[in-house]
Amino acid sequence: MSVRKLLIIGGVAGGASCAARARRTREDLSIVILEKGPFVSFANCGLPYYVGNLIKKEEDLLVASPELFRKRFAVDVRVLSEAVAIDRDKKIVRVRDLAAGREYDEPYDALVLSPGARPFAPPVPGTGLPGVFSVRNIPDCRDILDWAGKNRVGEAVVVGGGYIGVEIAENLARRGIRVAIVEREKHLLPPLDPEMAVPVHAAAKKAGVELHLSQSLAGIAAEPGGKLSVSLSLGRVLSAGMVILATGVVPETGLARAAGLALGESGGIAVDSRLRTSDPHIWAVGDAVEKTSLVTGLSRLVPLAGPANRQGRMAADIICAGEGKGPEYRGTLGTSVVGAFGMTAAATGETEKSLAAAAKKGVSIPYERVYAQALDHAEYYPGAKTLIIKLLVRKEDGRILGAQAVGEQGVEKRVDVIAAMIFKHATAADLENLDLCYAPQFGSAKDPANLAAMIAGNALSGFAPVARWEEAEAYGAVILDVRTPFEWKRGHVPGALHIPVDELRQNLDSLPEDKEIWTYCYVGARSHLAVRMISQTGRKARNLTGGYAIYQMMKSVED
Ligand code: FAD
Repeated sequence: MSVRKLLIIGGVAGGASCAARARRTREDLSIVILEKGPFVSFANCGLPYYVGNLIKKEEDLLVASPELFRKRFAVDVRVLSEAVAIDRDKKIVRVRDLAAGREYDEPYDALVLSPGARPFAPPVPGTGLPGVFSVRNIPDCRDILDWAGKNRVGEAVVVGGGYIGVEIAENLARRGIRVAIVEREKHLLPPLDPEMAVPVHAAAKKAGVELHLSQSLAGIAAEPGGKLSVSLSLGRVLSAGMVILATGVVPETGLARAAGLALGESGGIAVDSRLRTSDPHIWAVGDAVEKTSLVTGLSRLVPLAGPANRQGRMAADIICAGEGKGPEYRGTLGTSVVGAFGMTAAATGETEKSLAAAAKKGVSIPYERVYAQALDHAEYYPGAKTLIIKLLVRKEDGRILGAQAVGEQGVEKRVDVIAAMIFKHATAADLENLDLCYAPQFGSAKDPANLAAMIAGNALSGFAPVARWEEAEAYGAVILDVRTPFEWKRGHVPGALHIPVDELRQNLDSLPEDKEIWTYCYVGARSHLAVRMISQTGRKARNLTGGYAIYQMMKSVED
């Protein structure tokens, strides 16, 4: 029987998308959204910028109002309405009207869960004290701004240096508040590999933000003068007028669990490729559900707006298409970007960290890793800035597994291009040959994304094999620095030989023949030439990928 009544729990990214698409597909459907908060369809991703006063008005965060949903889409939006239980046998949701203080039952034919993810508070004393906040919705931001204003907050501690943590830190700093970030891992932006976060560390420090890395929150206590003292695991105590907890999110699965719906191994709601839960009349989308990695096939949580919006729309299509029909969700790459302190960092697909985690779960993918450091547009056109791309490709066939990039500009464009390639199962050879648009103010004739693939292609074919810095010591190769004497004097790898690339041709005979020679320059271009020169003498040579720049970044985040 065709669905007549669609009930949606959660009225923001996934829920609102689902309702709008369902209405566009079927005029005859009765559609109800239950939202426990006071707003639907608001821009969570804009919240940090509202805190920073870059977005001036609260209304600017509201993408659509309940009135608009009612008038334009004939969707019955009920805010301050919390779904408190699901009776799957009767196909009824128990609703608490938070304004009127009463409860009632709402029936459904099809139920879509899009309850999102809630901030995780570490289990330490003091996280519930006045002046301690998290950032999930508009009321949270009101509370933060209200508190900061009333208490003339001059210092804040942000616990958690992930995407939301650095965004909120940047925006508090924009308000003139001195900010310290506490991060449990040895680097900011934990979804990235450590070295790729290093340029963001430098930018944060330059912006006056204190970093307390490799330390977690031990507790928060109220000080006599109204301030908060924030104790860290290594013993340091910070004093602040306000604490923001940005220690990650956990999927809102309470309702689903209580209703007996199956959960996945990462703790999210388990759904099939058509977003259906273990109950045939209930679908789930967004941050609350587990998604499958398009690269490893493993399930994971991906709390990002893109997948939530697309899944919401897709759930409507699936429900309207009828039993066993409709599109299938293909999985996710977790493509993400964050801007902070003038830097942009972005990632798509797998990182070395996530590949290591996958290997522990039995999915081991041998890969090659290369770095490309290039200008975001032609050097001769004013304003060019360096960006670093890290590309991971499968050793077996060059298939692209993941990419990360960091720099001041042009970062997200490259990562999006690579995301599209991964989505289509492309290889380094495909990316090397990809036609990308070019004019000097926008890029280079050899775009940084092409360049990264060329380096990977050279490595895989054996034309210019690469080596990893972390293997240099144990391997016993000769390390050859081919930079200028000036660069050498400013710092070099202990124990390295030094022959500037322009003098190498004349000195090739002086190189040992019984050992591999691993070369480096600053970013990898001159050492690439060196590898080619050396290998044509019959010696074995490799390029230490990423060069001295990556060596220094790795050193700065070593345990
Ligand atoms: P949400 O959009 O969170 O919506 C869930 C809604 O369900 C909530 O409003 C909640 O009140 C409601 N709800 C929960 N339980 C019930 C119940 N029992 N009854 C009724 N209603 C209920 N992602 C990006 O991709 N890029 C970004 O830049 C980015 N920035 C972000 C910045 C911040 C500060 C935050 C908090 C998130 C950010 N995100 C970003 C993540 C993105 O907002 C989420 O991935 C996306 O909103 C998830 O959509 P969703 O529909 O699953 O959940």
